[in-house]
Amino acid sequence: DPKALEERLKKSIRTIPDYPQPGILFYDITTLFQDPEAYKLAIDHLVERVRPFRPDVIVGPEARGFVVGGPLAYALGVGFAFVRKPGKLPREVVTAEYEKEYGPDSLAIHRDALLPGQRVVVADDLLATGGTMGATVDLVRKLGGEVVAAAFLIELAHLGGRKFLLEEKKVPEVVTL
Ligand code: AMP
Repeated sequence: DPKALEERLKKSIRTIPDYPQPGILFYDITTLFQDPEAYKLAIDHLVERVRPFRPDVIVGPEARGFVVGGPLAYALGVGFAFVRKPGKLPREVVTAEYEKEYGPDSLAIHRDALLPGQRVVVADDLLATGGTMGATVDLVRKLGGEVVAAAFLIELAHLGGRKFLLEEKKVPEVVTL
C-alpha cells in the first residue's frame, strides 16, 4: 500500500527547521536508519524501483549516498562505486566541479571504479537542487559509464532538482519511493 508506506516513512524522518542555517528545513534521515523496519521498507521499495533499469553498478556520493546506494547494490547483486570529497580516495581519480550555496565544490571517483559502457544507477538520500547528483553523473560519464537512472529516498520537489537533472540531460529517469 503506497499510502501506508509514505505515512510510515514520513513518520520516521525527522525535519528540523532552520538547520544548518535559517530558512532551511533539514530532513534528518538518522531516525529512518535507526528504525530497522522503516529502513528495510525504504530500501526494499527503492530496490524494486531501480531493478527494471538493470544496472551493472550503483554509484553514490558520500556520505548518505553510501547508506542508500550500498544496500541497493547488495540487493541487486551488483557492485558499488564511491564518490568522495577530494583527497579521500587513494588511487588515481577524476574530479568534477559543481556549485553549492557558498561557491564551488568538487567530487572525485577512482578512475578504475567502472568500465566504459556499464549501466549505472546513481543513488543518494535526498534530491534538492540536483547539484550533487549532477556532478556525480559528470564523474560517471568521464569514465564512459551510461547513467540509466538516479534514485533517491526523498525529493524536495520545490527546489527543482528533477527538472535540472532531466532538462540538462544528466539522467533519463529520476526515481523516488
Ligand atoms: P543538492 O545537491 O542541492 O541536490 O543537495 C543534495 C545533497 O545535499 C544530498 O546529499 C542531501 O543529503 C543534502 N541536502 C540538501 N538539502 C537537504 C535538506 N533540506 N535536508 C537534508 N539534506 C539535504
